[in-house]
Amino acid sequence: MTAKVIDGKLFAANVRAQVQVQVAKLREEHGIQPGLAVVLVGEDPASQVYVRNKHASTLEVGMASFEHRLAIDTSEADLLALVQSLNADPAVHGILVQLPLPAHLNSELIINSIDPAKDVDGFHISNVGLLGTGQKSMVPCTPLGCLMMLRDHHGSLAGLNAVVVGRSNIVGKPMAQLLLGDSCTVTIAHSRTKDLAAVCRGADILVAAVGRPEMITGDFVKPGATVIDVGINRIERDGRTKLVGDVDYASAAAVAGAITPVPGGVGPMTIACLLANTLTACCRANGLPEPEGLTA
Ligand code: NDP
Repeated sequence: MTAKVIDGKLFAANVRAQVQVQVAKLREEHGIQPGLAVVLVGEDPASQVYVRNKHASTLEVGMASFEHRLAIDTSEADLLALVQSLNADPAVHGILVQLPLPAHLNSELIINSIDPAKDVDGFHISNVGLLGTGQKSMVPCTPLGCLMMLRDHHGSLAGLNAVVVGRSNIVGKPMAQLLLGDSCTVTIAHSRTKDLAAVCRGADILVAAVGRPEMITGDFVKPGATVIDVGINRIERDGRTKLVGDVDYASAAAVAGAITPVPGGVGPMTIACLLANTLTACCRANGLPEPEGLTA
């Protein structure tokens, strides 16, 4: 069997196009422009790339982009004061504080100081609780992107066995909650799981969010299963730096029914879902209906 490749780049372009249409509609019909504020503390190179990409994508769909670049030695009090001012700013509908923060700043405290209604990363403890109890929330972008691709591929996910490998707060746990919300039978696996390969082979949907290059090989995959590879790992191979996922693509694709590649799978969906979340937050803030197909 050769797996269908789920093209995340194309899917993300489609999501961004849908967002762009809705943004134009908001402007024409209501005179509202959604706005996203991104806060970057320090000069971590990877974070700078993400922030630059976010800024460009935000403008591309017609939203307002507010960038706040702060020095690495910014105090917690100053960062909290900035978040408070963004919470109070009616032009800002989404706030994202780029992680990781420098070690002297308490990430949990900062994230939980964001107005939950503007928490487009979905990391605020209120949003975590709302998602866990099946209520309307802001949903973390990467798992939301995975869910959108799975719904598109399968239609209904009800009754499917899903295995999520990884239990982080930003990917594994919210991913499992979303799959449960769509009535999958969900197993969360982690570093202490016994016979991981056998657990994974029970999955109709296998989501890998481990952070270990190419760990999930074809013998972990049930024939015909859908494999979603969240992993982004830089490795050296044949004297070159290469981007690979947590799934060994060649062996898994030989067994799976569908699979996301790395790069070009889940990665592009994350920023697209950030824009979708900002649009959703803007609609909610203005008492307007939420955009269809762009939320959990
Ligand atoms: P974390 O390091 O926070 O979590 C990794 C999880 O994998 C942990 O729960 C850990 O288990 C589990 N794990 C580690 N080793 C094993 C093993 N040998 N067997 C089974 N489980 C194992 O990572 P994240 O969730 O933040 O990220 C996961 C991957 O997704 C990374 O490659 C990251 O780069 C990528 N990522 C991609 C994004 C995108 O936009 N596409 C966004 C965010 C992340 P335990 O809890 O027991 O330690």
